[in-house]
Amino acid sequence: MLSFVAFMLINIHTHNPEKQDNQQIIYNLIIPETEEALETFPDETVPKTWLSAGIHPWHINENNQKIQLEKLRQLAQNQYIKLIGECGLDRLKGSPLPLQEEVFIKQIRIAEEVKKPLIIHCVKCFNELISIKKIVRPKVPMILHGFNNNFHIAQAILERGFYISLGTAILNDNSNAAHLLPQIPLEKLFLETDDKDTSISEIYEKASFILKMPIDKLIDTIFANYLEICK
Ligand SMILES: [Zn+2]
Repeated sequence: MLSFVAFMLINIHTHNPEKQDNQQIIYNLIIPETEEALETFPDETVPKTWLSAGIHPWHINENNQKIQLEKLRQLAQNQYIKLIGECGLDRLKGSPLPLQEEVFIKQIRIAEEVKKPLIIHCVKCFNELISIKKIVRPKVPMILHGFNNNFHIAQAILERGFYISLGTAILNDNSNAAHLLPQIPLEKLFLETDDKDTSISEIYEKASFILKMPIDKLIDTIFANYLEICK
């Protein structure tokens, strides 16, 4: 059993429900914002795989946020839901920041209630993110997804106990993510495809090349990270 699970490629964050046999995806569900969509959500189109669910900072509806949060609270109990999110903060897009912060904190509390880790979207709001963690002090692990920022920011968030998930950015040798990868402690690392069509195998292959580490060892390490946070 262990040798079977040990060779699964964990894709910690994807919006694409398709996967290969040797992969385990965490398919992301975005809690919808309109009343009509909320009424029928989630429906039978939700794939039977491991999931994350959250209110994305681009999709907060001020008038419906109570219903959105209630939907998430119900869904969060479901055994298929492995992570809460993506949720977080985005300075460039979505609702005004104070509303984003309010809804983010409420989602952290839901994650705490169900004891499931958070998968976080953060664009140009790292100081706010760090302050929120300091104030709310969640016990659940927090993963920053799609990270492609500089070493200074990475160091600040690693010091505060966050995990980092890297995506297709590492395929570009000049990206922050590619430069940063060897500096991230292996026990804090995840890989993902997010909304891209790239295969997760390609991202593991590139990461194994950058790290000069056999791919099987990398796959095992990230699977172990997953088991560590989703016990
Ligand atoms: Zn995403």
